[in-house]
Amino acid sequence: MSELTLLRQGSPLADPAEQVRFLEASEDVPPFSTKLGGRLHARGIETLQVNVGRVCNQTCGHCHVDAGPDRRESMSEEIAEAVLSLLSRAKIGTLDITGGAPEMNPQFRRLVTGARQLGCRVIDRCNLTILLAPGYEDLPEFLAENEVEIVASLPCYLEENVDRQRGDRVFQRSIQALQRMNQLGYGVSDSSLELSLVYNPVGPSRPPDQSKLEADYRRELQQRYGIQFTRLYTITNMPISRFLADLVARGRYEEYMQRLVETFNSSTIEGLMCRTMLSVDWQGFLYDCDFNQMLNLGVAGQGCGNVRDLDDEKLERLRTRPIVTGKHCYGCTAGAGSSCQGSLSTSDSIEGTP
Ligand code: SF4
Ligand code: SF4
Repeated sequence: MSELTLLRQGSPLADPAEQVRFLEASEDVPPFSTKLGGRLHARGIETLQVNVGRVCNQTCGHCHVDAGPDRRESMSEEIAEAVLSLLSRAKIGTLDITGGAPEMNPQFRRLVTGARQLGCRVIDRCNLTILLAPGYEDLPEFLAENEVEIVASLPCYLEENVDRQRGDRVFQRSIQALQRMNQLGYGVSDSSLELSLVYNPVGPSRPPDQSKLEADYRRELQQRYGIQFTRLYTITNMPISRFLADLVARGRYEEYMQRLVETFNSSTIEGLMCRTMLSVDWQGFLYDCDFNQMLNLGVAGQGCGNVRDLDDEKLERLRTRPIVTGKHCYGCTAGAGSSCQGSLSTSDSIEGTP
């Protein structure tokens, strides 16, 4: 695993336009719209997912953000206030904060407390190791006091697999962080503090059944480390950014895309997260999801592009906007489907089969 971002390596795939060109040029992969049989539309905005920037204390091999310690993109106070204003005006119930390591952004705590004052549910997409990092000693208590829901990456209960994907000693530090959060009441029975774990495959395969894997995680993490958690989400690796670069470098790109296309599952379309989510980047620009954000595919519709200048009319248009799709979207519709809230269907059956 390289410890450098694609940007620092000077990789052509650091450029979102180059990623889109590469993905759409795959002749063996049919256009996503032909599988879809029409256009996808949003049906409201229930969640505002805010990516506060690319700065991270890790450089994981599969990262779809190309985040790392060498990145400098970071949300300003002005944009954070515009995000809070939008939450209030649009009466959006959930603020989902992601990054990078979102807690490293200077606006993180303002976003959390501002959204909680508005009565929003707040989610922190946390890499766990930041909870033990110097300078963040009071972060666990801050999250607990504000009843922030934690969604934490732990792609395996085995040390070797986690360290291979996320870096040396990440597993042991993640386990320590989980134990600390359990001590604060996170993820333990009879507590309202939710601690969800996220599994994503280490290699170029689709995730296994979510409920079966959750049972394995519960048993192994309890027996080995005494750790409890609320639920497990399984997420498919999207063929973009560092995971795409890794697939290409290993000569596994075509095979992976074929696997996603062959297991296209039409029953996932109803629940695709882009239909009820709006995504905001560190500069305030708007997208249908965090993946489209990383590919620089902004929302359709003129003048609806930035959180700073959304009037009520533009907001209403965004609620039913057409979604911008591409071949990367096969990552959301393969098998049981995939979203930031895990799988979308209990059925792993593929298109046309019951
Ligand atoms: S996957 Fe998460 S923790 Fe890893 S580099 Fe990307 S943003 Fe950071
Ligand atoms: S990547 Fe997934 S969530 Fe994003 S637009 Fe495509 S189908 Fe929707």
